[in-house]
Amino acid sequence: MRIGFIGLGNMGMPMARNLARAGHTVVGFDVVPSTRVGASEAGLDVVAGVSEATREADLLVTMLPEGRHVREVYLGDEGVLTSARPGTQLVDCSTIDVETAREVAARAHDHGLDLLDAPVSGGVGGAEAAGLTFMVGGSEAGLERARPALEQMGKTIVHCGSSGTGQAAKICNNLILGISMIGVSEAFALAEALGLDAQKLFDVASRSSGQCWSLTSYCPVPGPVPGSPANRGYQAGFTAAMMAKDLRLAQSAALAADVATPLGAEARNLYRLFSSKQGDLDFSGIVQFLRTRS
Ligand code: NAD
Repeated sequence: MRIGFIGLGNMGMPMARNLARAGHTVVGFDVVPSTRVGASEAGLDVVAGVSEATREADLLVTMLPEGRHVREVYLGDEGVLTSARPGTQLVDCSTIDVETAREVAARAHDHGLDLLDAPVSGGVGGAEAAGLTFMVGGSEAGLERARPALEQMGKTIVHCGSSGTGQAAKICNNLILGISMIGVSEAFALAEALGLDAQKLFDVASRSSGQCWSLTSYCPVPGPVPGSPANRGYQAGFTAAMMAKDLRLAQSAALAADVATPLGAEARNLYRLFSSKQGDLDFSGIVQFLRTRS
């Protein structure tokens, strides 16, 4: 296939590289010139605009920071919707608000185009290892057209339902993650103050009812899980700023749907405060922020 790929950042770059390795012709674009140079050095075919990346594509993938970027890239002058030829399958892998995902998909439909929302989990490591999980909202036919390429970037694909439900799954998952990371961090901070060794708490909680992914795969203190960001000075990974963004999305969705998420609201406040000071650090660095507050 000829695949257009727009947004070659931390996630987009390794995803595009995996598609190129699988034998597709990948035509990439990023708005930042130095990122385009890096992509070109990594062997991708890099072009100078959204329309060039889109025009001849069988499949067009976007991996952008936020909803406003997705609107700009799809709906702007010379954007994806005016440049794509009929039959091009569109897939947005960015994490954005459900409303924007649904609106842009509806506008694509008006142009005779099919757009899937397919946000991912697995982080940069998952993107590099082609081990991402895709949560897909949109048509079954669209998913079947995109599936071979998604399988070359990930391991798990879940069709969540109609347009926007992929984004709903992503923000609900990250609501769990954001809250659970704070819970695990509070427990380690308290253990330390009570004279309980971090490794001992890990040995107990990882085999008890406190067990969760934030503890056993991404432990926020150095030692128990050698691959976690805590062992490299909380270098991201998944930044605190990105977590604050996802919790903001969850809170606005909850407000619109009139659903009570009090812990989500508190978690959002804590990550927002933490990221206003150290937004580039990994979100698990919240453990240090909690220690400082106490
Ligand atoms: P990033 O900021 O590294 O990459 C985004 C890229 O999009 C940047 O290179 C930026 O220059 C480019 N861009 C912005 N506007 C553009 C435009 N108009 N045209 C072309 N390019 C444009 O972000 P990332 O870490 O790659 O994350 C991308 C998305 O994936 C986000 O929505 C994020 O929430 C989600 N996500 C990230 C992770 C992670 O661990 N980093 C994990 C899961 C999901």
